[in-house]
Amino acid sequence: MREPEHVDANVLAGPLSEILSVDLTTAERHCAVCGAEGVFAELHVVADGPGWVASCPRCRTLVLRLVRTADSLWLDLGGSGTVRIRTGP
Ligand SMILES: [Zn+2]
Repeated sequence: MREPEHVDANVLAGPLSEILSVDLTTAERHCAVCGAEGVFAELHVVADGPGWVASCPRCRTLVLRLVRTADSLWLDLGGSGTVRIRTGP
């Protein structure tokens, strides 16, 4: 089977800069585990550690981990499902 052609991830710089400059709390989300739909602001967040852990309000699946250290911001979106950020009307 032939491997699909690819380019390096620098091609994502433009689209990612657009996403990371918006307020994600208003983005629509779809849970990959239970199918719940809503906005990011509805996630349940625990902030009693070195950062924040957000989970789905319906099934409690971990959606996001965000940790701030002295020189970095660590973001894990591993379980988030799908996030829709509207760019137009
Ligand atoms: Zn869920």
